[in-house]
Amino acid sequence: MKLAKIKLDDLARHCLARHREERSDVAIHSKPTMHTDPNCIFCKIVAGKIPSKKVYEDEEIFAFHDINPWAPVHFLIIPKLHIPSMAQVGPEHQALLGRMLLLAPKLALQEGVNPYPEGGFRLVTNTGTEGGQEVHHLHWHVMGGPRPWLRG
Ligand code: AMP
Ligand code: ZN
Repeated sequence: MKLAKIKLDDLARHCLARHREERSDVAIHSKPTMHTDPNCIFCKIVAGKIPSKKVYEDEEIFAFHDINPWAPVHFLIIPKLHIPSMAQVGPEHQALLGRMLLLAPKLALQEGVNPYPEGGFRLVTNTGTEGGQEVHHLHWHVMGGPRPWLRG
């Protein structure tokens, strides 16, 4: 009887040790939040590894001209943080997204769109393949200027 009790205690200790090992494995091997993606073209633009025509920069946000413009004015506003798309945003990004939105009209005028209401601009964010997204780093297209445009 005593022997059986000791064995049970040993087994419980063994299980607890294994559980702790597994938990620490999870902590060590779980993927940390990715701030930049080394394979992402827009992360490379933010890092200056790929040249771009810069429109605006602060600690969190970068804006640059689209390489293949559809409209007389066409630039992209992106977070420096690698967020793949609008499908991944959460409450922690609320202030960042708000700042990006507020920049759009200001930068649009700075880049030469005509004032509202005769002028104005289009703000577009494609999300996922079926949403027409080709570059999987969150970006907002800002397009404006006299019509006709190539697209949009
Ligand atoms: P989307 O289809 O919404 O993912 O849009 C991606 C946009 O990124 C397209 O309008 C491209 O023309 C633009 N783009 C891709 N590579 C570059 C680059 N190196 N510099 C500027 N714009 C780019
Ligand atoms: Zn990126």
